[in-house]
Amino acid sequence: MTEATSGAGESAVAGTSRTPILSVRDLQAAYRGPEGMIPAVRGVSLDLYPGEVLALVGESAAGKSSVALATLGLLPSTAEVSGSILYQGESLLDLKGDDRRRVRGGEIAMIFQDAMAGLTPTLRVGEQVAEIFLAHERLDPKAARAAAIVALRPLLPDAERIVDAYPFQLSGGMAQRVMVAMATALGPKIVIADEPTANLDPAVRLETLNWLEDMRNRGTAVMLITHDFGVVARLADRVMVMYGGVVAEEGDVFTIFRRPRHPYTYGLLSSLPGVMSGARLTPMRGNPPDLASLGEECAFLERCPKAVSQCRLDPSPPLVDAGPLPGSDEPPAPGHRVACFNPMAIDLREGRDR
Ligand code: ATP
Ligand code: MG
Repeated sequence: MTEATSGAGESAVAGTSRTPILSVRDLQAAYRGPEGMIPAVRGVSLDLYPGEVLALVGESAAGKSSVALATLGLLPSTAEVSGSILYQGESLLDLKGDDRRRVRGGEIAMIFQDAMAGLTPTLRVGEQVAEIFLAHERLDPKAARAAAIVALRPLLPDAERIVDAYPFQLSGGMAQRVMVAMATALGPKIVIADEPTANLDPAVRLETLNWLEDMRNRGTAVMLITHDFGVVARLADRVMVMYGGVVAEEGDVFTIFRRPRHPYTYGLLSSLPGVMSGARLTPMRGNPPDLASLGEECAFLERCPKAVSQCRLDPSPPLVDAGPLPGSDEPPAPGHRVACFNPMAIDLREGRDR
């Protein structure tokens, strides 16, 4: 189990006293598998602030999407969830019926990795976009259709035609634009984007990044899940590195890129040809842990170049302040936390472990 990233209401951002719009504490999510429960999220805590982009990174099966889906109440009914998720003080895990609909899609919008899969195949595009206005603004069907066209037009100039199309008649880029229009329509306070740039051609990818940046600049809080460190470098204010369902490290983007303390973060970064070049993450040696059979040792042990004896005995190094980098005069970066018994002491500008 990890420590909370910061106390409720207390800012993790240096020099500010902002209040988080989303506070997750000790989130646990487990899926029922053929051989028992799979603990996909194991005590994750995070704060998300208005007008910031928090990037969740980590290899496949780290639990990133599970955090996002739990926040929106979209985990399958077979999943067991505990902990707390507060949105403006309201408990999302307890929301039901109309309240849940108001928040989901209205105040918290989601962009899925596969835009096409996010659309209902049997409903015309216009009906799906209009549904948002029917559900959230109680417009009549005619007004909702007109609102759908208005919502689509900035992204798709021939919106009048597209409202009558079925999703299979759209290209991947058009489907992405429809999803972005739906996510923008009601002026959400939070956008959760799960791999929003995967499988897109460069023009739509850039458009999507510009849109996320624009949302952030307008004060929307963005939770961005990505494997693409180029996207992290361009958009993220803070980074949370997940491994095997826990937070391995978190901090502001400059600190994470320059002074990663967790050997896993370091492994991710050093496997890139150039972290600022937009290169995609390439796997480091070894594989992510099998969540169905976690042992009594640190889940990263097998792959870790820095393991010490304590790592064999305790599976849960606490997430604590990273503190100053040994041998450096620079003060520690506020909000930089690491869950490791023997953290790296490296400055990637210098390229050596101290
Ligand atoms: P990726 O980068 O591949 O999207 P992720 O970090 O988003 O990975 P999750 O999708 O949250 O990871 O999955 C975490 C773990 O939970 C994985 O082991 C996955 O197999 C398991 N899992 C996810 N969804 C389900 C489900 N519906 N039923 C059973 N297990 C699931
Ligand atoms: Mg995922």
